[in-house]
Amino acid sequence: MTRVALVTGGSRGIGRAAALELAARGNRVAINYAGNAEAASRVLDEILATGVEAIAVQADVGDPGEVGRLFSEVSDQLGPVEILVNNAGVTRDGLVLRMDVADWDQVMVTNLRSVFLCSKAALRPMVRSKWGRIISISSVAGVAGNAGQANYAASKAGVIGFTKSVAKEMGSRGITVNAVAPGFIDTDMTNDLSDDIREAASASISVGRFGLPREVASVVGYLASDDAAYVTGQVVVVDGGMAL
Ligand code: NAP
Repeated sequence: MTRVALVTGGSRGIGRAAALELAARGNRVAINYAGNAEAASRVLDEILATGVEAIAVQADVGDPGEVGRLFSEVSDQLGPVEILVNNAGVTRDGLVLRMDVADWDQVMVTNLRSVFLCSKAALRPMVRSKWGRIISISSVAGVAGNAGQANYAASKAGVIGFTKSVAKEMGSRGITVNAVAPGFIDTDMTNDLSDDIREAASASISVGRFGLPREVASVVGYLASDDAAYVTGQVVVVDGGMAL
């Protein structure tokens, strides 16, 4: 069945792969991005070339006014959002003793407040139609913590608490709410890691390598499908066995 999917931060990395996966499954897709219009239009063209309806919409998902505009544009052009992938995220790493309030707030607003704002906007029409899927990209850092990422880990742990709570609120209404917690995935976000850190990280991953964006996207695709109707409130770890 064709549904309307919105992927926040769909211009690059995991979000791009999720947008392509949802389009390959026949869904109409809205790609949201923050500022990289060129990357967003490349994803858009890739999807349109397959004959699937899609749009790209710029909006800062941490900003309530912009989220309102984003959802109106998607609703006007494609229809109400039925599948929401809360993927947009940033890092502002540093040891907690050196972390300033701006770096804390930026990460909380982009990674956690956005999940609340977008989920709330998506839920009203989902409740009316008695069907919906919300999938938020957390991180293994939100499950286990990570030195140098206290702000990021707190935001990603927040995503998990939010997911479980909303899953309980919405379970009887045909709406499932899940989180995916990736480990190290090859994207722009992990590009900056030094060779030493990459090697040490790879050594701790059972599969022995970083993951690919599409290896996270395939889990998103499943959770967004009708087949996953009985899976809710879960955190699916996709980390190549790093947490073992
Ligand atoms: P990425 O390659 O850095 O891409 C980030 C995406 O988020 C871009 O599309 C960017 O848009 C968008 N974005 C950033 N701030 C935004 C805002 N305020 N409003 C709207 N969009 C915004 O990141 P990634 O590695 O694919 O990560 C995607 C998600 O997975 C994030 O939530 C991240 O925390 C999580 N994650 C990643 C890893 C990993 O190893 N890569 C591991 C665990 C979890 P522009 O292109 O316009 O800048």
